[in-house]
Amino acid sequence: MSASLGEPLRFASSRDASAASGFGAALLQGLAPDGGLYVPERWPSLPVEAFEGATHLPAVAARLLAPFAAGDALAPRVNEIVTEAFNFPAPRVVLTDDDRLSVLELFHGPTAAFKDFGARFLAAAFARMRPQDAAPLTILVATSGDTGGAVAAAFHQRAGIRVVVLFPRGLVSPLQERQLTCWGGNVRSLSVRGTFDDCQRLVKEAFLDESLKGEATLSSANSINLGRLLPQAVYYAATSLEIFRKHGEPASFVVPSGNLGNAVACLWAKRMGLPIADLVLAHNRNRAVPDYLATGQWRPRPSIATLASAMDVGDPSNMERLLALHPGPGDLRAAVSATSVTDEEIRARILSGYRRYGQIWCPHTATAAEAWERLPKLKRAAGRWVLVATAHPAKFAEIVEPVIGRAVPVPASLAKLFARPAHCQEIDSSLAALRGVLREKV
Ligand SMILES: *Cc1c(COP(=O)(O)O)cnc(C)c1O
Repeated sequence: MSASLGEPLRFASSRDASAASGFGAALLQGLAPDGGLYVPERWPSLPVEAFEGATHLPAVAARLLAPFAAGDALAPRVNEIVTEAFNFPAPRVVLTDDDRLSVLELFHGPTAAFKDFGARFLAAAFARMRPQDAAPLTILVATSGDTGGAVAAAFHQRAGIRVVVLFPRGLVSPLQERQLTCWGGNVRSLSVRGTFDDCQRLVKEAFLDESLKGEATLSSANSINLGRLLPQAVYYAATSLEIFRKHGEPASFVVPSGNLGNAVACLWAKRMGLPIADLVLAHNRNRAVPDYLATGQWRPRPSIATLASAMDVGDPSNMERLLALHPGPGDLRAAVSATSVTDEEIRARILSGYRRYGQIWCPHTATAAEAWERLPKLKRAAGRWVLVATAHPAKFAEIVEPVIGRAVPVPASLAKLFARPAHCQEIDSSLAALRGVLREKV
């Protein structure tokens, strides 16, 4: 199962293992030709010793990602790419004296959510793959909130690349909407009359649409894109290494989950040999995954609007990758546990996090904190638990501020974005409407 450096590693479709691509091609294609998702054909072996001397994110990223790019045209550029992409920190804030509970803050990037990591990696990689004279590339991205902003920020003003962002009208927070629509230039923001699942379906349909082939070179920047997902394994690697070096014990993570990209990235890091013990998936009332683990029946369903809106996903696309890794409910149950949290519980957890730890959590992070509280006491006491903080609370000020009774300071990065004018177009949730936009001359 292990690959040595230099031996090319290919990526197979989650549906048909015989259709395999190299690293750069898989990034550009986004979705495999048969509609499946790219997964590595085999796993490089990256135990703790493989990271000796690597302490900062770019160094960990270079070691972790090099085997995946081996043999590809991008291989010699990996160091440059990770230096450009991982240029902001992911600090771990310790909540208890014994360091058994901490919060991993993934919101210090340009749009204050963890999606900046994957989006910036993808943009840095694409910029090095496109020859100057190539036809313009269109990046299609469906977003339930944070993805679109992170992708737009990462690709804004990159030559030869156009970004089309689709978000569900009225279903993202006001601040998120401003972050999705403040770009202009090479970024088009589409407010779709539908849900996130509709936006996601439109993107998939556009990719498979024969009439669009040859008209526009499409790529995706959703978490279905390998180039978003693999770099997310980096902060799990760096955090588990930090904990292991300090305590000689593996780290366990509680991950606020929607489309399951962040969760899959954690399992991939574990599969490569990083010191990771348990993974708990914290969902809001969109409970397809917790129900699957409980009943063994996969029942995707329409998404429900909740306070943790970036996780309002009824039919998570990365379930296919999760099942590619752990086929069947029994296998998956051995690898992860999952729980569903209500809006009332989210509010209560935001308040108790503030009172008990002086922490201000966004609604997504609060679902993780709630999921941790529900673990058996012994399990909590025996683990090195890390709650993954996926967004800055200022992005959800209208929810958080009334609960804690004080203002949430806005980070400078966000304040800068909000000063820009909004550009946005409303469309029906139909492929015909999206085609119309895609056919406009850039
Ligand atoms: C996207 C997002 C999530 C869900 O992550 P997935 O990878 O889709 O499971 C959680 N919290 C925030 C703030 C997000 O933006």
